[in-house]
Amino acid sequence: MFNQHKTESSQQLSSTQPMMSEEESLTTKFNKYNDLIFSSKLPIPRLKWSRGKTRLGQMACKRKRSWGRTTFYDYTISVSRYYNLTEEQIDDVLIHEMIHYFIAYTGQRDSSAHGTLFRSMMNDINQRFGRNITISVRTRSIEPRVTETPKTYLVLALEMRNGKHYFSSVNPNAVRKITLMLSRLSEINTYRWYQTQDEFFRNMPRVRTLRGRPVTKTVYEEMINKMTPIL
Ligand SMILES: [Zn+2]
Repeated sequence: MFNQHKTESSQQLSSTQPMMSEEESLTTKFNKYNDLIFSSKLPIPRLKWSRGKTRLGQMACKRKRSWGRTTFYDYTISVSRYYNLTEEQIDDVLIHEMIHYFIAYTGQRDSSAHGTLFRSMMNDINQRFGRNITISVRTRSIEPRVTETPKTYLVLALEMRNGKHYFSSVNPNAVRKITLMLSRLSEINTYRWYQTQDEFFRNMPRVRTLRGRPVTKTVYEEMINKMTPIL
């Protein structure tokens, strides 16, 4: 997964020096902490960046039972790129998952998912390496990396002869067709096209035919004042 924006805007990149992919950088981080903290005991698992919103990191593996023993294999560690974390925070998330991996890989048993063993390893690592690894991170207080760009809606505002008002969010490809339909309807008093990014239209379907949502005169006038008319 390449960060397209970075690639386009950065002047430092030259064609002879390709940008390091995020996967590579996660591997580099893994190797670094494997050597530093886990005495290089861990084989490289599958490493992935994720878009997780509720979990910053995850360690997954498959399990099989044979001869009454459960063994784990096929390990995957993923770290979320959704939030705007600092390098240090990302590394803490990765090390947190590496503790899970270490416990599973060495076949140790913990009292729970973040039990006595996990906590003692975590506290030890925090102390020895000056890290801030935690059991869980409150994701609510962290900003997403990419803020969702607001959508632009093409809105048809209709005032009928019977005094009713309608709004309809129109699929831009259907404008010509709908304009033609409008010209044939005698029930219409006035209509006008607007452009807006108002949340009001977020859950309204983008129609391709002449359909709309009835609104009160007050809402109609309020919205019209907020939107940008298109000629
Ligand atoms: Zn955990």
